[in-house]
Amino acid sequence: MLSIGQAQIKLLEKLCNAMAVSGDEGEVRRIVLEEVKPHADEVKVDALGSVLVRKRGTGKKPLRVLLDAHMDEVGFMIVRDDGDGFYQFATVGGIDARHLVGKQVIVGKDHTIGVIGAKPIHLTTPDERKHTIDVEAMRIDLGPEGKAKVGDRATFATKFKRVGPSVMSKSIDDRIGVAILIELLKHTPKNIELCLSFSVQEEIGLRGAAVAGHYFNPDLAIAVDSTPARDLPDYEGRENYTYNTKLGLGSRHLHSACTHHQRYAAGEIPRRNRCQKQNPIPVPPAGRRRDGCGRASTGACRCPGGLGLRAAPLHPFPHQRCAGGGLEEYSQSLARHIA
Ligand SMILES: [Zn+2]
Repeated sequence: MLSIGQAQIKLLEKLCNAMAVSGDEGEVRRIVLEEVKPHADEVKVDALGSVLVRKRGTGKKPLRVLLDAHMDEVGFMIVRDDGDGFYQFATVGGIDARHLVGKQVIVGKDHTIGVIGAKPIHLTTPDERKHTIDVEAMRIDLGPEGKAKVGDRATFATKFKRVGPSVMSKSIDDRIGVAILIELLKHTPKNIELCLSFSVQEEIGLRGAAVAGHYFNPDLAIAVDSTPARDLPDYEGRENYTYNTKLGLGSRHLHSACTHHQRYAAGEIPRRNRCQKQNPIPVPPAGRRRDGCGRASTGACRCPGGLGLRAAPLHPFPHQRCAGGGLEEYSQSLARHIA
């Protein structure tokens, strides 16, 4: 029986603390390769850098199921050395500039600590205080001794933490999906051919997942990712009843554009999983974006899923939080679903 204990949480911690800004996913890829090799029939790294894994099923023509989780995270790239330890940077993926000033970051392969600096408040004019500072005007400050190269990636310096029953970290989106896929590989149902795509460059346009879809040509494709938890109180302090996911209520399997496969017929997912406590609101645009692996393959039914994350829609937040128990529930519901 698939269960989540200390070992799996340790692995999630290692994955979250690694840096894998889109286009430079090497740190996470190395962890993934080490974890999957003992349990897979076939492992390859494709031209873009995604890790593609296959575990063959029994029987004449077992259903080919592709699960995709992305290795990359949003972050920054150094674009100019201004001297004296100041570096101009560009954002990579969906970053909201309002959340950047004052944040600590790690830069390059050595994870050199820096900070995104700004003028102190007593030196700013009233007009400057009304406006968000443009990213082009911000600098990463590594101090006079700090060294970085143009092209180096950077991300938030936040370390993984366990806070009561939940976990808080940068890049839970989508290291949680990566960790779940690794666990599912160890508990693959025998009646399916399990294909896993640990894909690159999701945050800048689903690039890795699209290639994986072509490579595997699956019967079913499921994107294993997080989804925004809109469970915060509203402006008047009342509970938000329009939440799509709520921390503590487990995962949510979204009905996507394609529902021709009987496993994805309306009502079938909640029935099979005996778990759908989340609100069945329509797939938001962000959810639709995640079905790249299905869209790219010929006619495969695709279905994005997700574990609710607070702060997920605000990618630049260095802290994303999810309920720890949801990790086990999501893994188990996926295992039941594909068996
Ligand atoms: Zn994601």
